[in-house]
Order: sequence, then C-alpha cells, then structure tokens
Amino acid sequence: MNAAHYDVAIVGGGLFGCFSGFFLARMGKRVAIVERGHVGAQSSGANFGGLRLQGRSLSQYPLSLLAQTHWEDFDELIGEGCEFDRNGMVYFAHTPAGKERLLAYAATSRACGLDISIWEGAELKQNLPWLADTAVIASHSPRCAVANPRLATPAVARAMLRHGGTLFQHTEIVRTTRAGDLFTLECSDGRKISASKLVNAAGGWAKAICEQFDEAVPLFSAGPPQFVTEPLPYTLKPSVYAIEGDMIIRQIPRGNYIFAGYPRTLANEDGEHTFVPPHKTLNGMRAVATHIPSLRNADIIRVWSGVEGYLPDMLPVVGESQTTPGLFHAFGASGGGFQIAPAVGECLAQIICDQNPSVDLAPYSISRFRTEVEKSEKLLREFDA
Ligand SMILES: Cc1cc2nc3c(=O)[nH]c(=O)nc-3n(C[C@H](O)[C@H](O)[C@H](O)COP(=O)(O)OP(=O)(O)OC[C@H]3O[C@@H](n4cnc5c(N)ncnc54)[C@H](O)[C@@H]3O)c2cc1C
Repeated sequence: MNAAHYDVAIVGGGLFGCFSGFFLARMGKRVAIVERGHVGAQSSGANFGGLRLQGRSLSQYPLSLLAQTHWEDFDELIGEGCEFDRNGMVYFAHTPAGKERLLAYAATSRACGLDISIWEGAELKQNLPWLADTAVIASHSPRCAVANPRLATPAVARAMLRHGGTLFQHTEIVRTTRAGDLFTLECSDGRKISASKLVNAAGGWAKAICEQFDEAVPLFSAGPPQFVTEPLPYTLKPSVYAIEGDMIIRQIPRGNYIFAGYPRTLANEDGEHTFVPPHKTLNGMRAVATHIPSLRNADIIRVWSGVEGYLPDMLPVVGESQTTPGLFHAFGASGGGFQIAPAVGECLAQIICDQNPSVDLAPYSISRFRTEVEKSEKLLREFDA
C-alpha cells in the first residue's frame, strides 16, 4: 500500500504543532499533524495559562509581541474562544536584589513598547491590598493576559481541520527517514506517511527526532509544580509573580487560585511524567501564604506538573535543521511556549512556504548549539542546584 503523501507532516499535536499546522493549512499546504496521544494533552494543556509579556528576554520580544496580537484576536482567527482574558500581570519584589531585577525588566519591557506602571509605598498598598507588607515594589503590565490551556490547542487543531488539514491522534511516530526529497514517517500501528517537509514539534521528546537526523541539541525535560486551590471569592484580577522566584499565582473567575511553586522539577527517567515531590507542595503553599496572607488557610485540591523541553539558554529552537534539508524544528520553549506558540507557528509556516518570516528567527537557530551556549540566569534561578 502506498503511503499517504502530504506537503508537510508535523510530529506533535501540542500548541507549536497545531499553530504550525493551522497557518500552513491556511496557506494552502496539504498538512498532517501526527500526535501519539490527544491533541494538547501534554504541556500545552497542562500549563498555567499565562500569556506573559513582562520579564521576557530582550531577544524574545518580537516573537512574543507578535504572538500576543494573535491571542488578542484568537476568537476571530481561530473561530472559537479559549477564555482569553487580558487580566494584566504584577511582578513584585521584597529584597533590594529583587527590586533591582524588577526595575531592569521594566526598563527592557518599556524599551519594547510595553506600558509598565511602577508602584511603591502607599500606591503599592492601595493597588495591591492583598499583598504582604514585606513587598517593597511592584510593576504592572496591563497587556499581559491568560487563556485556558485546556481549550486553546484543540480549538487550533479544529481550525486547521476546517482549513483542510489532517490530524492523526493516538498515532506515534517511531521512525523518520529521508530518501531523495521525501520523508517517510513510520507509525506505531504500522502505517506509513510520506511528506516533502517535516516539522519536529515533539515538545519534551523532540531530541529523539533530532537524533534520527544526527542533529545534536542539549534538550532536557522538566516542568514546574502546579497547584489549584478550592474556589474562593473572586478578588485577584491580575496574575502575580514573586520576582525572587518562588511563586506565580492567578485566580480564575470561577474562584480557584492556580499557582506554581519553584524550583522546577526534572522529568522522571522515562521522560513520560514530572512528579511533584511532597516538599515542593509544602514549599509552594508556604510561599503563597507568605506573599498573600489571606490564602494561608486555602485548601489545595489538585497537584500536577508536565513534561516540556528546556534548553540551557531558555530560548526555543525555531527554524531549519542544520543537517537535513526539508526538516524544520519548533521545540524547547523552556517554560514560555504557551504565549509564543501562535508566532512560532506563523513564522515556521512562512519559512516552509519560502516566505520571509514576520520575525527574525536567527536567535532561535539550532546552529547556536555548535558551541556551548551560556546558561541563562533564569535557568540557574528556577532549577534545583
Ligand atoms: C506545568 C507547566 C506550566 C507552564 N506554564 C506556562 C505559562 O504559564 N505560560 C507559557 O507561555 N508557557 C507555560 N508552560 C510552557 C508551555 O506549556 C510549553 O512551552 C508549550 O506548551 C510547548 O508546546 P509544544 O507544542 O512544544 O509541546 P507539547 O504540548 O508537549 O506537545 C508536544 C507533543 O508531541 C507529541 N509527541 C512527542 N513525540 C511524538 C512522537 N514520536 N509521535 C507523535 N507525537 C509525539 C506529544 O505527545 C505532545 O503532545 C508551562 C509548562 C508546564 C509543563
């Protein structure tokens, strides 16, 4: 039996794969996404839902700002909603070192065109009355937002289908090869798919695809511990991040608080799960009670994490392979991929269709790993030693 042929096959039905598939299908390509489980069931569905602009590295702003315009237009672009809410985001500090970092982030954000307010003293107390008195300064970015990760990826996949794309779920790619100008994807059920171009959007598992094409990349898998409390009266509108790095929290209008406690945790050895050790649950609860004292008696009703790909400089890989013509990568978003996914998908679709990408992808080239890259200070701060 001949293998079904596509212009582009995408390994991975997370948000990177689905947005890439959506834009490619909209540009008229015959595209298929191949996902070994359910679409959006891994980190794209398990994440905190933060669409954070403040605190990004300078080089990531063009991608991040393009992505935010797509989130802001999500309903129209995709044809259905994902509980997008421009709730704003607060960073706060309670140490001199934290204050210095907060002001540096604010300066970078402003230089990239973001509207940032700085609050101290009485203004801080008035605007954030629920914050502990130990906080000395806060920055507020009204354009930061949130969306529901459970809804977003399946919605984008459905939009791709409406544009004529194909989706295979519960179909694992066990081997990918290239002969002549064609890629062959061998599926776990014995089926074969052939494609002229291949996108590696396999998230925390992307290294396995790279290895099949002799492409070296220092990707490792991890996730932040996540918690949700019982529903409580809705009082906290913005997302709130402790810049010293132990907590990020938001409240959804249904009343539950969702928060992450750091440090992040490495995925377990088989790479299929990231456990949340009990001490991280206790540390997370302690951080929340310290920074927002009214939550000291809130009950946690669920604990989870996810498996996502990290790179030492905490920047994703987006762009062409250096070893194999026709192979494109989109993985390794290192904690921030939910927000940038629409722009990653759009730019990748553009280069696959031989167009100039809306954003320069040079900072995200896999070629940067030909030499050892410098570890990001965020990586050192947000992981166990
Ligand atoms: C707990 C947690 C909280 C987070 N919070 C935020 C946040 O608030 N804001 C933010 O911007 N980012 C956040 N992130 C990061 C964000 O979720 C990820 O960067 C993003 O979802 C990555 O999307 P992806 O498509 O690359 O990966 P994934 O969603 O993991 O998708 C990859 C897919 O590839 C499939 N796959 C792998 N190998 C194969 C194969 N061989 N054959 C077929 N399919 C395969 C997997 O099954 C998976 O579905 C968080 C991550 C986690 C884990």
